[in-house]
Amino acid sequence: MRNDTIVAIATPAGVGGIAVVRVSGSDALSMALSHLSVGTLEPRHATYCRFDDIDDGIAVYYPAGYTGEPTVEFSCHGSIYVQQAIVQAFVDSGARMAEPGEYTMRAFLNGRLDLSQAEAVADLIDAATPAQHRLAVSQLRGGYAEELKSLRQQLLDLTSLLELELDFSQEDVEFADRSQLQNLLHRLTDAVTKLINSFQMGNAIKHGIPLAIVGVPNAGKSTLLNALLNDDRAIVSPIPGTTRDTIEETLVIEGIPFRLIDTAGIRRSGDTVEQLGIERSRKAMKDAEIVLCVCDGTASVDETEWILEGLKNRKCLLVMNKADRMANPRYGNIEPGSDCYYISALTGEGIEELKHRIAQSVRKNMDAGGILLSNARHLEALRNVAAALQQVEGGLADGIPADLVAVDLRDALYHLGTITGDVTNDEVLGNIFSRFCVGK
Ligand code: GDP
Repeated sequence: MRNDTIVAIATPAGVGGIAVVRVSGSDALSMALSHLSVGTLEPRHATYCRFDDIDDGIAVYYPAGYTGEPTVEFSCHGSIYVQQAIVQAFVDSGARMAEPGEYTMRAFLNGRLDLSQAEAVADLIDAATPAQHRLAVSQLRGGYAEELKSLRQQLLDLTSLLELELDFSQEDVEFADRSQLQNLLHRLTDAVTKLINSFQMGNAIKHGIPLAIVGVPNAGKSTLLNALLNDDRAIVSPIPGTTRDTIEETLVIEGIPFRLIDTAGIRRSGDTVEQLGIERSRKAMKDAEIVLCVCDGTASVDETEWILEGLKNRKCLLVMNKADRMANPRYGNIEPGSDCYYISALTGEGIEELKHRIAQSVRKNMDAGGILLSNARHLEALRNVAAALQQVEGGLADGIPADLVAVDLRDALYHLGTITGDVTNDEVLGNIFSRFCVGK
């Protein structure tokens, strides 16, 4: 069924200024021409024409479109009736309604994209902030695919070295260069580990970087939260929660999405509850990429154990709040070199500088590591690659015969292949592409 001709509305459901109906497959052109008021469509040229007696619009023919197949796109008026009538006309001519993601799946099957790039298309469509957009675009443009290709090449090198070793051992000759083998194995393991470790940041960007606001009751946490949210509310878009099935509070600072870790419910009313509050704050600090420790600057500095602990982690920014009530109000980072910020959550003074500092600390990590892994499926596969490599290393150390070690190497190659789509099956493809919408 994979080269039959499919049709779908490529634009969002509903009424719009225009809508685009896309038909792809071997019969796309002849089917389109049977409905259009023109005798031919010049490749990649916009042709104004009439579609039956349904609508006037623009038809474009691509001999090898997004899917790699002959494709015709017809832009019509965005009325629901017009869109559906045109789709129905194609169905009457023998086209099949496309499944979700089927266009992108065909692009993958026709070798236009590897599987990791096809998945990036879904991420790009979902991207709501510049940081998410950048992540998806770098994956789509193949920087990540290049990295995987280089890993694959190194794995193949390793395998051929091992096979060399195998040949030598059959001739009862001393080993091929074993240290070279070990070196290659270490380099490969390092590269895989680096990618695995980048998942924390990649995933954080995809779902929002976890940010916690902690502090004793009345320090001004809620007020600060509101001050942070107010400015950005207009461009905040809901990001589905990863740890629970709700929409979490998110804010975007300088294009980077943050997901607020809930520390609500921390209220002092007796020692047990206070203890509970501290436990929660501790957990929030552990889960967060960045922690704002809010202190009431007009009270004595709260040097509770857990705040100091957080400061040691260097992901904690100390926020001295209520600076407006201090004797000599000063705002921002008034002690250069420290991570202590003076603000008034109430008046908004010092908030901009604090926000800039928050964005900066994340950007440092975002830019440092190069390629960021952001796809859970890829993470799983890379963990399998790492496990197989560990087997190889153990096998070599224990002097296990090279042909058995090669089995583990092939295992590593297999798991790597599942990311790029060199190795795949219908179930995996079904899972991936069902995440897409119809028409993509
Ligand atoms: P939370 O318990 O940490 O969430 O603290 P709240 O945000 O509820 O604030 C406690 C009290 O401090 C409220 O009466 C706020 O109006 C007040 N407050 C918060 N931030 C400031 C500030 O920057 N300046 C002043 N003067 N009062 C503040």
